[in-house]
Amino acid sequence: MLNLNIKSKASILPAYLWTPHSFSEEYMLGLSDEDANIDPHWKLYGRYFSTVEDVIGLITVGNEPKLIDYDNSGISFLFSKLKSTKDIEEFSKIYGLLGVTPPDKWKTSQIELPNFSEIIHDLKYGKSYFEPLILWEWHIKNVRRLLKLYRALLKESGGDSVEIEENLLTIEKLDHRGYGVFWSDGEFTYIDIDKPEDRSYIELAKEVLAKSIALFLEGGVNIYPSKIVENKKKSIGFHIAELRSTHHLLAAIYYDLWQQVNESTKITLCGSPECKLPIQKKGRKTYCNDACKSAAWRYRKLKNN
Ligand SMILES: [Zn+2]
Repeated sequence: MLNLNIKSKASILPAYLWTPHSFSEEYMLGLSDEDANIDPHWKLYGRYFSTVEDVIGLITVGNEPKLIDYDNSGISFLFSKLKSTKDIEEFSKIYGLLGVTPPDKWKTSQIELPNFSEIIHDLKYGKSYFEPLILWEWHIKNVRRLLKLYRALLKESGGDSVEIEENLLTIEKLDHRGYGVFWSDGEFTYIDIDKPEDRSYIELAKEVLAKSIALFLEGGVNIYPSKIVENKKKSIGFHIAELRSTHHLLAAIYYDLWQQVNESTKITLCGSPECKLPIQKKGRKTYCNDACKSAAWRYRKLKNN
């Protein structure tokens, strides 16, 4: 279980997450008996993470998953920086799988495989043994978009000009009703509006940020009573302290994003002209890694010559 206290430093690896064992470039149906229970539609999305070996041996202790302490603060930034398949694999070796399972309706009906972004909101949290790489890629892209939107709002509040309209969000007429707010890459934010002329882009950006995070917390976060705190100021003499937790890495990532927004965490874009990913601003560091730092250096050298 992963504790989601805002200030918590030591947390626990979600019990339902497992360290991926191998990565396969292309998946073929019916490879082995162990994965017989995975939804066939899921498999059709191609490249995937497999965890079978670890579920059987390495990570489980008896029938109980091994719990690991780790710091979940800032995990949304770490996640957003994953670029290559290797990066994703390394990250998942530490934090496990996202904890997302295919929609229930796939179990009962033979449906055509839709575009991945069309099913993203039908997916649900659950015990996960396999996850297609495309699922990871979609969420990495989504967290990056949300961090960029957050950065724009932070700049705006500091008096700087913002680049939300066209660069981050666009409004388009929907066929059936009103207008929709879209990301600049053409993907729908799932936010409809009646009268676009009544809404500013800043207002819309705040709504997109809040609702997009909330979409992926649904069904992912639990609240437990952590302890009874004696409190003489209360008529009843105590209050019940709450503890938020999740079994699902993806919920922890979106929850962290929410906390970063509420704490006004400083954010910048990576200084490499080829990268420009949103990163946490810490001191003078303005690159997501050494590779970006060297790339920026090479670029400057090229420009000066
Ligand atoms: Zn970078």
